[in-house]
Amino acid sequence: MPLIQIKDLTKLYRMGESIVHALDGVDLEIEQGEFVAITGASGSGKSTIMHLLGCLDRPTAGDYLLNGRNVGDMSDRELAHIRNQDIGFVFQTFNLINRTTALENVGIPLFYARTTNSRAPARRALERVGLTQRSTHTPSELSGGERQRVAIARAIVNDPVLLLADEPTGNLDTRTGEQIMEIFSSLNEQGVTIILVTHEHDVAMRAKRVVQMRDGKIVLDKLTRDIHVDAGESPTARPADIPALQPASVPEAPPAPAESAPGNAEPLEATPTVKMKPRLAAGVNGAFGCGLAAPLLLLLGIVMLIVMQTRFHPSEFSPEKPPPLALAVLGIMLLCLLLSIIAGLIGFFWGRAVLKRIRTVPGSWIGKGRARTACICGLTTVLIPLALFGLNIVVWMTRTARG
Ligand code: ADP
Ligand code: MG
Repeated sequence: MPLIQIKDLTKLYRMGESIVHALDGVDLEIEQGEFVAITGASGSGKSTIMHLLGCLDRPTAGDYLLNGRNVGDMSDRELAHIRNQDIGFVFQTFNLINRTTALENVGIPLFYARTTNSRAPARRALERVGLTQRSTHTPSELSGGERQRVAIARAIVNDPVLLLADEPTGNLDTRTGEQIMEIFSSLNEQGVTIILVTHEHDVAMRAKRVVQMRDGKIVLDKLTRDIHVDAGESPTARPADIPALQPASVPEAPPAPAESAPGNAEPLEATPTVKMKPRLAAGVNGAFGCGLAAPLLLLLGIVMLIVMQTRFHPSEFSPEKPPPLALAVLGIMLLCLLLSIIAGLIGFFWGRAVLKRIRTVPGSWIGKGRARTACICGLTTVLIPLALFGLNIVVWMTRTARG
């Protein structure tokens, strides 16, 4: 039984007075394990058929059987389940969540599936696309090719039977596009059924079967190896029956500026130098604040001590009736000293943790100076009272020894 059986599939759109035949009675069968490229000029119906295959939309007429089950008979709930479990999607514009790491992006379908709390499947998926070293990076820290690899990892994290990709190389330069196609080929060798849309001839010829569309109809359906044979055994020759896939087929979205970043032409297994936007390391300002507060509090405590010694004579202190102002000053002094030690300790350890994070987590971090200042201020603030206390003890001991 074929994985996909489409019979007379039709999708109409009403555009004002006229009706657009986005799909005009398409028949198609795709077996498990195939690697199919759908090509055609812009507006020929490629995205429409992908949306229907991906259960993102319902046809106007016709049948779509996925694994023998008629998708038209399914409830929205069942369709959502199929989209999550059985189908992976890869888009031209990657569609990653910007502020979350590669690993978290890949784990999103797991979260929706509520099957596991473990990150192991997401790690495995990243490994399959050769991106283990980039798991803690956010999309803005990745090249275009790497972003698309993250998107592919997200698409395969639930081990889908079907992987759909709409112009996955459309926003990438040729070399990066080839690397992405290598990943698709290797996933296909591992048994994943892949259908991808492209208007690039070379990309289409990396698949095992080419389906060409025009005006909502399939006009050519051929194995790539037969196309090679027809073209005279030369795999690089452009076959006559795949017309030059028009440059007129405008890409759906303008290429993102980051795609021209120098990092995206890297060989797959290498660890390229990725140009990263500098970012403030988390916790820097907190540590810095504590580190600065500590000596200030200590200073305030010392001022209170001086006030005590100059303003209040010891003879004024009778234990029964101490002057309230002196008590207040004494209280503030002790509080300041205590708080300065606490702030100093927090500043020191927090600053150290931030420095460690900056050293060990890949990324271009800002805040090293502030974290260092927090450490130094915190430590000195804690050490100064200790040193003074120690000095007092030494003085007292020498005096008693002499006396
Ligand atoms: P392709 O992906 O090959 O460029 P599409 O499948 O996006 O083509 O579109 C096929 C045809 O259907 C085009 O003529 C397009 O204008 C039309 N079409 C697609 N989506 C809609 C829509 N939501 N509303 C109206 N017309 C649409
Ligand atoms: Mg399209």
